[in-house]
Amino acid sequence: MKREKQYPIPVTVLIALFCMGLIACATNSSRNQQKKPDIDMTNFHPQYNNEAKKLAEELERKGISDKSVLTAIATIPRDSFIDKQLSAYAYLDRPLPIESGQTISQPFTVAWQTQLLQLKPGEKVLEIGTGSGYQAAVLCEMKAEVFSIERYHNLYESAKETLNKLGYYPNLFFGDGYAGLPEHAPFDKILITAAPEKVPEKLLQQLRIGGWMVVPVGGKKGQKMTVIRRVGEHEFKESEHGDFIFVPMQEGVVD
Ligand code: SAH
Repeated sequence: MKREKQYPIPVTVLIALFCMGLIACATNSSRNQQKKPDIDMTNFHPQYNNEAKKLAEELERKGISDKSVLTAIATIPRDSFIDKQLSAYAYLDRPLPIESGQTISQPFTVAWQTQLLQLKPGEKVLEIGTGSGYQAAVLCEMKAEVFSIERYHNLYESAKETLNKLGYYPNLFFGDGYAGLPEHAPFDKILITAAPEKVPEKLLQQLRIGGWMVVPVGGKKGQKMTVIRRVGEHEFKESEHGDFIFVPMQEGVVD
């Protein structure tokens, strides 16, 4: 598999990081929890666990309380999902550039969205925007049945390779997430990791009644993290959960 090296020199890396810092996802998290997370150590990859564990502890201090989310973050080697030249930044709580001008979300954002899903093992989840595959790994660690769509073919390919190497086998699809996966619907939960300006109607129709979607809704200046519950065939309830900045959800695919 070919991997383009987009950041060949350190200066470029620093510029990229600076730019990513500018669009770092904002949030109103409570920062008053100081105790260490009660993390289940059974699935640790020993070579990465210390940094990943520290990252999970940082996220708990920043307000993530779902232990299964923290355990997943503490378990997954985030450095495997980014370019080697950025390895030194892999366990910082910040977004980082991946191929095709996309980003691996800030760990806090991944944890926040995942916490909002309130996943139970075995639930069927559709993710829109596979990107690096990191969020899909979190969902796999939480024992969900994962479906994930990516519109860039190269990202779809490299995410598949990374995930499979680490022993994760979600159902990955190359396609336009706006269409969803009607043949696999209904889903218990839908997670959108790119920002649509309006909630995609076709995806709402692929939620089971009683299920919900977590989606950052809004334009380029920023989005509201929104949870939309399907409470009846034609009835939905919305709530908002903070301000974030994501890459836009775009139509069509890039081969
Ligand atoms: N969940 C990813 C975050 C990736 S950033 C991770 O953990 O790394 C958002 C991703 O959404 C990008 O890879 C982008 O290409 C993808 N995306 C944007 N619009 C899309 C669409 N309509 N369908 C599928 N993927 C889309």
